[in-house]
Amino acid sequence: MGGEKKQKNKIKVAFPHMGTISIAWAAALRKMGIEPFIPPYTSKRTLSLGTKNSPEAICLPYKLILGNFIEAIEGGTDYVAMITSPGICRLGEYGKNIKNVLKDLGYDANYIELNLYNGFSGMWEFLSKLTGNNNPITIIRAINIAVRKVFAIDEVESFYSYYRAREIHFGDSEKAYKKALKLIDNALTTKELKKALKQGLKEIAKVEINKNKEVLHVDLTGEIFLVLDQFANQNIEKELGRMGVQTRRSLTVSGFLKDAIIPKMCKKGETHLERAFRMAKPYLMRDIGGDALECISDVMYAKEKGTDGLIHVSPFTCMPEIMSQNIFPKMREDVDIPILSLIMDEQTGKAGYLTRLEAFVDLMRRKKMKNKLALKIN
Ligand code: SF4
Repeated sequence: MGGEKKQKNKIKVAFPHMGTISIAWAAALRKMGIEPFIPPYTSKRTLSLGTKNSPEAICLPYKLILGNFIEAIEGGTDYVAMITSPGICRLGEYGKNIKNVLKDLGYDANYIELNLYNGFSGMWEFLSKLTGNNNPITIIRAINIAVRKVFAIDEVESFYSYYRAREIHFGDSEKAYKKALKLIDNALTTKELKKALKQGLKEIAKVEINKNKEVLHVDLTGEIFLVLDQFANQNIEKELGRMGVQTRRSLTVSGFLKDAIIPKMCKKGETHLERAFRMAKPYLMRDIGGDALECISDVMYAKEKGTDGLIHVSPFTCMPEIMSQNIFPKMREDVDIPILSLIMDEQTGKAGYLTRLEAFVDLMRRKKMKNKLALKIN
């Protein structure tokens, strides 16, 4: 298939953005001898291209992905690769729609699907179909480096979150974090990756912080794309960091991979999905698509961990997350943890959204002080 359009070593393949995921895709493609085509990071232009060519009520990730593909094709990619799912939610329809829209717009790029929900075999099938290379060693190496980069990035992200909430000079930890990502991106082998991760964490650890600062801890949950993509969530973690809040993402790509790709014998402990089935009861008894089951269980998990609050971010019209938002009021009656639900779409203005964040942070701070005081009195 790879040879249909160009010489194998010249094929350019683009994936849509979702936070920093392009680093992992790029590593897998390079290992297979393909040139990763990284479209410009999502911008207002991307959003406007996507929105213009999308049904009005479709969820925000669809619009952003379509915009990424249009920009990738304009930039000269040969293939656009889309993740699909058999899904109960709209993700199951994304692929077919996007393929048709690109065709209607007259774009000349091959469209290829990756069914990540088929786990390891889905990834294998995708890479071999794309390159015509069935060499198991090459494919395993490609998957291995991509998965390891995902884990490395998640480790860096959570380290960064600690420093961002405590930094003395605003922006220092972000600069160090970007350096760490660059190091991880440049690593070509697992040995180099280990070194890059160590060096990246060192860079972040150099940032001057106030270790005694009273920070708040917030769990971030919701629809996975919105949780991970800083354009889609309007850089929520950076804003919270500025307000002295350390965030912990309840949904991560490494967590997803543990459930979707990594073989059982290589996993340690309970995965996020396993925990979700255990902790979402009795509020939600089964998987209803998207990340709803995980979100409901994340409230209970946040409570168990003593987190100061939980923020739920989701796209406007996202069906599974509409269900979660309707379950939260009942949970609030039983579980004493502040929950803020933020619904995002292309109309969401930054000022109003920041006001809601500030008010929520204020509420958590007052609640924390009240609890402290009550403890002292007792
Ligand atoms: S989970 Fe929600 S936002 Fe994501 S694809 Fe499904 S319906 Fe759309």
